[in-house]
Amino acid sequence: MYGTTGKILRVNLTNGAIETETLTEEFYRLYPGGKALAGYILLNELPPHTDPFSPENVLVIANGLLTGAPVSTATRYIVSARSPLTGGYGESEAGGFWGPELKMAGWEAIVVKGKAPKPVYLWVNGDQAEIRPAEHLWGQMTADVQEDIRLELGDDKIRVLQTGIAGENRVRFAGLTNDLRHFNGRNGLGAVMGSKNLRAMAVRGTQRYQSLAYDAKTLMSIGGKLAKSVKENPLSWDLQQRGTPGLVEPLNTGGILPTRNFRQGAFEKMEDVKWEAYEKQILTARRSCYACAVRCKREVAVYGQPSPYGGPEYETVGAFGPNCGVNDLQAIARAGELCNAYMLDSISCGGTIAFAMECFEHGLIGLDDTGGIDLRFGNAEAMLRMIELIARREGIGNLLAEGSKRAAEKIGGDAHFFAMQVKGQELAMHEPRGKYNVGMGYAISEIGADHLVVAHDSAFANPDSIQFKSARGLGIEKALPPRSLGDEKMELFYILEKWGSLEKVVGYCFFGPAPRSFIPVEDVLASINAATGWTLSMQDALRIGERATNMARIFNLREGFSRKDDTLPERLFQGLENGALQGNALPRDEFEASLTSLYRIKGWHPESGVPTRERLEGLSLGWALEMIAPGTK
Ligand code: SF4
Repeated sequence: MYGTTGKILRVNLTNGAIETETLTEEFYRLYPGGKALAGYILLNELPPHTDPFSPENVLVIANGLLTGAPVSTATRYIVSARSPLTGGYGESEAGGFWGPELKMAGWEAIVVKGKAPKPVYLWVNGDQAEIRPAEHLWGQMTADVQEDIRLELGDDKIRVLQTGIAGENRVRFAGLTNDLRHFNGRNGLGAVMGSKNLRAMAVRGTQRYQSLAYDAKTLMSIGGKLAKSVKENPLSWDLQQRGTPGLVEPLNTGGILPTRNFRQGAFEKMEDVKWEAYEKQILTARRSCYACAVRCKREVAVYGQPSPYGGPEYETVGAFGPNCGVNDLQAIARAGELCNAYMLDSISCGGTIAFAMECFEHGLIGLDDTGGIDLRFGNAEAMLRMIELIARREGIGNLLAEGSKRAAEKIGGDAHFFAMQVKGQELAMHEPRGKYNVGMGYAISEIGADHLVVAHDSAFANPDSIQFKSARGLGIEKALPPRSLGDEKMELFYILEKWGSLEKVVGYCFFGPAPRSFIPVEDVLASINAATGWTLSMQDALRIGERATNMARIFNLREGFSRKDDTLPERLFQGLENGALQGNALPRDEFEASLTSLYRIKGWHPESGVPTRERLEGLSLGWALEMIAPGTK
């Protein structure tokens, strides 16, 4: 087997057992990493209806097939478990350095079961692993924990993946961070880690990916060519120049910048939060993930102090800026810092605070509930205070730490209308009323509202655009308007979903491959084949992505999810209050009809959304039939 270390580290925190599992080639070909590997392990080892906070929940950290390869953006790993936020299949990916380091240490994945009697951290030093006490780290900010672990182990090159105080307190949208700057933010998987009394996983390795590859020379030549192309491609060049915060202004101009809890699509104080303001007020430097020539990461100073946590991405600027009605960029950056120090998902945290602000303005919660805090849109100080209360589960923070869906159920009245969530997870900062496939992605995603299910609609509107042309290798031939649905749009969705899922299996960042960015789809395929020695066609590769998506679907069906969960917040079927798309709403009937079409196209029963026997067997997932229809295996 090439392109893989072929080994999984298995850790049982209850009894301290540490074991090595060796993968077979047959298994590797079907589940070569990331989303596919995690999905297989969860389906086969996690009993249905397991309490996400019980020791029986299984936490999987799985590298992509190419993670650590000498190709820009091949940096990602997946964290997976039953999500405490959605109750379904949980997944969150991140780049940075931790995944490549795990590969260099000789491991494809770590599978954690059980619960330690006291706080611990895991230390993986090459092929050696040990569980070490972490009581001295419990209750500390993430920057302090990383420094302490490196000091304790005597190596400042150790890569530390950790949750934070929010994870310790089981905030349902607590995440994980590596190197303090890269985040597995979504789905509350940091809270799963905290519930296991596991604060961190430190890793050090020395192996190089090239030694695992079938054809290292070709792989390096693809990597070298792509690194040079970053400056030539306007998409990757823009990511290097402005990073994701560069999205604020164009989305505002298009009327799709979520503002005041998705009531509006444009922010009247945009000048204060757009890229030029970011660059002038807080930017100090640019950084990168492992071996990535794009360098889209930012470094910032907050209130004049250099931040150890990296600068806020677009999602953070959007969630704590326009979506909370806040135009104070220093406060927005501080909000990002607090999330990273406590380890909260900034999307769900900002979304939940925006929800609370709207509840406050409608009198559903009052000063008695907030402890005297005037929780109105635009009150930056109140927003910052909320983040700390949530992370520590103090006062109203204890309610909001449950996420907007559960909080709305407790508040009652019309509060549910203000909870902008799907399957319990808050919407990312992308407005579906201007990008209908993004809305479909929010609805159908197994992890709840997720903006990375498919490349966004705007890439496929103009047949002459670089993005559209770059998608031809996937079989996409026809340009379609962003605000359209129907069979052709669902065919497009189906192809893009398989492609996006493949990226999560092989470990490419969303900002690497076309059509979102600069890596031709043919080079994605060539890199997989060079690493493995396989001769996959594009259809073979897309099938790997589709297999992973279907496993996540089966996980959710087993947990009781159904078509009724593939839906969107009511507000999105009503018109936007302002901006270029003022009055535009998602067409409900067309949306439902398109969901039926999509199920059919995906080989699922068109009404129920349950994968058919034919499709599962075609994907070599016949073994999973019994999980959704007992007795059918
Ligand atoms: S494009 Fe940006 S986020 Fe993606 S791997 Fe490169 S530096 Fe990291």
